[in-house]
Amino acid sequence: MAQQMGNQPLIVLSDDSQRTSGKDAQSMNITAGKAVAEAVRTTLGPKGMDKMLVDSSGGVVVTNDGVTILKEMDIEHPAANMIVEVSETQENEVGDGTTSAVIVSGELLSEAEDLLEQDIHATTLAQGYRQAAAKAKEFLDEQAIDVSPDDTEELEKIAATAMTGKGAENAKDLLSDLVVRAAQSVADDGTVDTDNIKVEKVTGGATENSELIEGVIVDKERVNDNMPYGVEDAKIALVDDGLEVKETEIDTEVNVNDPDQLQQFLDQEEEQLREMVESLSEAGANVVFVDGGIDDMAQHYLAQEGILAVRRAKSDDFTRLSRSTGATPVSNVNEIDADDLGDAGSVAQKDIGGDERIFVEDVEEAKSVTLVLRGGTEHVVDEVERAIDDSLGVVRVTLEDGKVLPGGGAPETELAMQLRDFADSVGGREQLAVEAFADALEVVPRTLAENAGHDPIDSLVDLRSRHDGGELGAGLDAYTGETIDMEGEGVVEPLRVKTQAIESATEAATMLLRIDDVIAAGDLKGGQVDADSGGDDEMPPGGGGMGGGMGGMGGMGGAM
Ligand code: ADP
Ligand code: MG
Repeated sequence: MAQQMGNQPLIVLSDDSQRTSGKDAQSMNITAGKAVAEAVRTTLGPKGMDKMLVDSSGGVVVTNDGVTILKEMDIEHPAANMIVEVSETQENEVGDGTTSAVIVSGELLSEAEDLLEQDIHATTLAQGYRQAAAKAKEFLDEQAIDVSPDDTEELEKIAATAMTGKGAENAKDLLSDLVVRAAQSVADDGTVDTDNIKVEKVTGGATENSELIEGVIVDKERVNDNMPYGVEDAKIALVDDGLEVKETEIDTEVNVNDPDQLQQFLDQEEEQLREMVESLSEAGANVVFVDGGIDDMAQHYLAQEGILAVRRAKSDDFTRLSRSTGATPVSNVNEIDADDLGDAGSVAQKDIGGDERIFVEDVEEAKSVTLVLRGGTEHVVDEVERAIDDSLGVVRVTLEDGKVLPGGGAPETELAMQLRDFADSVGGREQLAVEAFADALEVVPRTLAENAGHDPIDSLVDLRSRHDGGELGAGLDAYTGETIDMEGEGVVEPLRVKTQAIESATEAATMLLRIDDVIAAGDLKGGQVDADSGGDDEMPPGGGGMGGGMGGMGGMGGAM
């Protein structure tokens, strides 16, 4: 592509490259970012709708979860992807608030569009936005309410708020109890490692029958039917090897001349296996998890000793078993002793959704727990899992930070008000950016109202006046459309959900705004979400082409 440099045409890019500069680049990126936000907008809040996403091989996902929708949509447009990353950061940092973060980001771009038209420079805008974001974090900190890590009731409210409007909602009370118990039992020194909470999905049965197992479920069966189905007062051995006769490193050939010799040789192997089992039983083990295989003969001896054995246990099962029962994995089974064994009240093979698994329960140190989620169909369980994931995320963050805010658009309304006051002190053109930032935050209460079928303007006017009157916690009751005290209603979210959303939304929006030149090696068609919406052939290169692609995506959002 030839670019005009001064008076001289200078060719620096290959023919396939596309370049979009200046206002075109800006508006192209803004359009792309807004389209991403538009795609998830209708899912926000308790009355938000779900989306059905079908991938190229026909796989179906039904979800309300912002980050899942955007991931499944397989967006390729570079600018749009920067907004998708906002939801991914939010997911990784907090687990919840992914939709809010994206729509705030989209709204920041939308507000910026107006200001750019009034000839406010993008850099000024970006500066104003950053200033507003920093101030917003301060204000949020001041609004936050303390929660103690053992305030189970409050934690359950937080867990439930994150599930509202998702597949898990009908069993919200039970599930939030499970989530809080799970998080509290793995909490250690103010941090919660969610790796210690394993979620097992079981298709079949009602979501209400989900349960929390204080311990580990291993997706295996006992290796031999003659072994006990279960043992009480389990002494658990973890063997980081097989219970088999080792093949020698060097290839050996044994010449057998008479049957006695063969028998002797076999006896010797048998003897080795017997010794391994003896060593286990002498140490006091009645359950053994083995990393490798277990020889038939060894199985026979183990069964004789009444030992329940599992072969080919996975390494993360080992980790979890070791953490929860206190067992130390040994690599040489002949050297195992009582100290290496872990303890559990019971180890038993049980049926779960038509599958037999090994339950290790009633463990000494329940540092590892398993949440067994049930649902009628695979799609239901998958969506319940995503809701639980958000819910675990918010409880984790609350246990770590100990700070929460009311939900339902209350903090956004309050922030908008405080930022408008703050804007007066900023002055200059940046003041306009700070005001735009404040307006953008109100997209949250506005969208909550819209999605619930209420008039967004009426709702916002009401909210503003309540906040003006000093009601910090006034938010939108999505069911009735009234303005109510959110805390009293039990709608609470961790502070970090809001601060993180503001931070990443601002970063992505300001980054996009500062771009005034997009140079793409090759065709920008990659920006299209839908292969069949290829109407961009007639469009001018650059902005137009991208707009076409994103239009396809907006259409997708609208159609669902
Ligand atoms: P996100 O991906 O941003 O978490 P959600 O669909 O989970 O999106 O919606 C979150 C929003 O819904 C938050 O602003 C939260 O305060 C609000 N919300 C949750 N429960 C209620 C409720 N019962 N009434 C009003 N708003 C609620
Ligand atoms: Mg949520």
